[in-house]
Amino acid sequence: MLIRFLYRCITGVSWRLLFKAAYLWCFKGFFALRAFKKRNKKGILFPPFLFFSLTDRCNLRCRGCWVTPPNQVKDLSLESIENVIKAGQKNSVYFYTLLGGEPFLAPAMFDIIAKHPEAYFQIITNGFFLNQENTALIKKYGNASPLVSIDGFEETNDARRGTGSFEKAINGCRELQRQKILYGVAAVVTEQNFDDVVSEKFVQHFINLGASYLWFYLFRPIGIDSAPELAAEQNRIIEFRKKLLDMRRKMPIILIDTYWDAKGRAVCPASKGMSFVISPNGSVIPCPPLAVAKEKVQDNGGDFFKTVNESGFLRRFQEFIENHYDGKNSQGCIILDKPKELAEFLRKENVNDVSGRNFLDELETSTPKTSQYLPNDEIAENYWVYKILKKMLFFGMGAYG
Ligand code: SF4
Repeated sequence: MLIRFLYRCITGVSWRLLFKAAYLWCFKGFFALRAFKKRNKKGILFPPFLFFSLTDRCNLRCRGCWVTPPNQVKDLSLESIENVIKAGQKNSVYFYTLLGGEPFLAPAMFDIIAKHPEAYFQIITNGFFLNQENTALIKKYGNASPLVSIDGFEETNDARRGTGSFEKAINGCRELQRQKILYGVAAVVTEQNFDDVVSEKFVQHFINLGASYLWFYLFRPIGIDSAPELAAEQNRIIEFRKKLLDMRRKMPIILIDTYWDAKGRAVCPASKGMSFVISPNGSVIPCPPLAVAKEKVQDNGGDFFKTVNESGFLRRFQEFIENHYDGKNSQGCIILDKPKELAEFLRKENVNDVSGRNFLDELETSTPKTSQYLPNDEIAENYWVYKILKKMLFFGMGAYG
């Protein structure tokens, strides 16, 4: 697999972009993790990777999306972004994920990428704005990799993301391939699209379209149209794990999940402090779907390191998760497994609900679902390439989920 994958990279992706990714994403990612482990040992809380939710604007209304369509749109300010990146530079953090809403609708997106050639950015996008002009800019700067959200072939994708969204996203992939840009595809796994996306046919489809990685995400029923019936059942999650390991040995593409470590133990990235998210109003939230906070980027005169490291809430959130699972060894997704207990904890913390809805009521009324925490069904990685990539958290792409 590895030789075929590397061959695809050197024949299908611009060498300039490959070198930039190797240095800014992987090489610097290695040192970001090393610095993070050193901080951890000293009891310092500051993640190796960070997210910017640049805006809550979006042109789509996907079922189960955790972003609430805003009455008044919010865009994250450049000043807030600069404060975070400044703190990141002092702590070896160089990998940032840009999401939304739809990040291409955020006025600041290309300004950030252009202004920070020392950093690497992953852009999570619905693919509608990957036209010649925008992809040419991505190629020019070279320090960003789009991750295009596609949740099945046309019928299953459009059933959740809206009519015509599959074709638009595929056209975007074709333009990225034509420009020889290093990109990936993100697929949300649901009960409805399971047979479509967890298949060699789906993976091969994107190999043919020049994708270098495919990132699988387990559906979380959240939001105004939470669609709980789409959440994968336990047997499906185990089947997903088995198929993923099988495809990893065969398919010449990097297949990413963030739910299990190299030993097959469940992981909650937020509970390990691997990454936090800056929401459009500057709030520091544990992970994208968990839109609650007690701190903002603007706190402490914009000293973001101080704000995170001294956050009692983020530290207690980690303890809360560990106490509900197997401590630091293994954690599931508390949003799925124990939504009521999570709501109770968040009420006690008196958090700010920045979801634009009543998120705590949602949690209290939602039915628990199976998460990646399957202590009796742990399956370790069985291919050396992924044992290493897992230890490296895919250099940042494995730090949220
Ligand atoms: S596992 Fe759940 S709580 Fe943990 S980071 Fe992922 S979505 Fe958030």
